Amino acid sequence: MSLFNSLIAKSLPIVPKSIVKAVASRYIAGATLADAVRVSKELALKGAGSTIDVLGEFVTSRERSIHEYETTSSVISAINDNHLQSYLSVKLTSLGLDIDPEFAFANVRSLVEKANGLGIFVRMDMENSPYTSITLDFYKRLRAEGLDNIGVVLQAYMRRTEEDIRSLLPYKPSVRLCKGIYIESQEIAFKEPNEIRSNYKKMLRVLLDNGANVRIATHDDNLIDDATNYIDNQNVSKNQYEFQMLLGVREEKRNEIIRSGHGMRIYVPFGSDWYGYSVRRLKENPQVAGYVLKAMFFRG
Ligand SMILES: Cc1cc2nc3c(=O)[nH]c(=O)nc-3n(C[C@H](O)[C@H](O)[C@H](O)COP(=O)(O)OP(=O)(O)OC[C@H]3O[C@@H](n4cnc5c(N)ncnc54)[C@H](O)[C@@H]3O)c2cc1C
Repeated sequence: MSLFNSLIAKSLPIVPKSIVKAVASRYIAGATLADAVRVSKELALKGAGSTIDVLGEFVTSRERSIHEYETTSSVISAINDNHLQSYLSVKLTSLGLDIDPEFAFANVRSLVEKANGLGIFVRMDMENSPYTSITLDFYKRLRAEGLDNIGVVLQAYMRRTEEDIRSLLPYKPSVRLCKGIYIESQEIAFKEPNEIRSNYKKMLRVLLDNGANVRIATHDDNLIDDATNYIDNQNVSKNQYEFQMLLGVREEKRNEIIRSGHGMRIYVPFGSDWYGYSVRRLKENPQVAGYVLKAMFFRG
């Protein structure tokens, strides 16, 4: 990313929220569940599945997390009612992880049970490092209770990821592998782009070679090319992997991957709690400066 773009990316906290909202709208289906359903149907016509996420995280009140739970539960009903090729992505901090871990566990278990009854899959997103171990513990507890419609996310920037994979392998897990989006310290995370890439490639091989189901979540050409080459060379079955991308990011590349015959699923967030997600997305956009300045200019 150019110096100017990264300067604007770092200044986002002082950019007016209305500008952030305008520029980030491409990353979000809309404010309502109906928007997420509509976008999921549009994606299906283009050959992609979706994974629907209710925006909201780091919830600090029980009332709010019950609201998040209910909205998330209604996503499961909507997937079923509309026969969508979709599943659910959920953040444990939206379900009350910071309030009381057992309360959050009961919430996620109830969602996974409901989804299980309808044949719908649920993936727990991976948040920042204070939540890594507990998220993986929840996964293992749910699997031990016989719920197998559940998956996790692992971040290639975390130094612990290989060890985490090894601890999950006995479960034959479904793992979304991403680079990782949060700011973590050098002690626990790789910081250099090439180190992260090289660990991503290594982790992809550990997962595929050991029979895990892998969701290859990246927009990075280098990693996409590496994954497609490895999949071709090793004759990895289409059941064992799919690519995943975020709504509004690299749509041309997405279509190219679909045309090549690979499975593709798009992360479709919706809801009114859009700010944190939007800022993270904008910080990753190499053209962030142009978009933000254009939005400010047109607003003026
Ligand atoms: C489906 C999915 C789910 C995810 N779930 C999680 C999760 O649970 N936990 C977590 O920590 N992280 C998650 N992430 C985010 C991930 O960790 C990365 O931060 C993000 O994908 C960017 O990394 P990248 O591999 O695409 O590479 P990058 O190097 O960031 O991007 C590669 C190229 O893609 C383009 N690009 C990337 N982002 C944007 C953007 N916002 N706007 C425009 N162009 C862009 C640019 O051309 C860039 O050069 C998820 C990502 C995906 C795709």
